[in-house]
Amino acid sequence: MAVQQNKVSKSRRNMRRAHDALVAANPNECTNCGELKRPHHVCPSCGSYDGRDVVAMAAEVDLDEDAA
Ligand SMILES: [Zn+2]
Repeated sequence: MAVQQNKVSKSRRNMRRAHDALVAANPNECTNCGELKRPHHVCPSCGSYDGRDVVAMAAEVDLDEDAA
């Protein structure tokens, strides 16, 4: 097992972690439905990619009907 040679000070540890913050996503607008989506990914709301339908989306699901 590797053993560190020197104690990492709180200051040095915190300076390293100063770069660990999450960065905001960079969503694109879907060209088909206008919904925001991840770039280079199939649109989760309409299932289209590059102007064509690649995923068949289910029709509107009525959750109340299933629960009964
Ligand atoms: Zn879409």
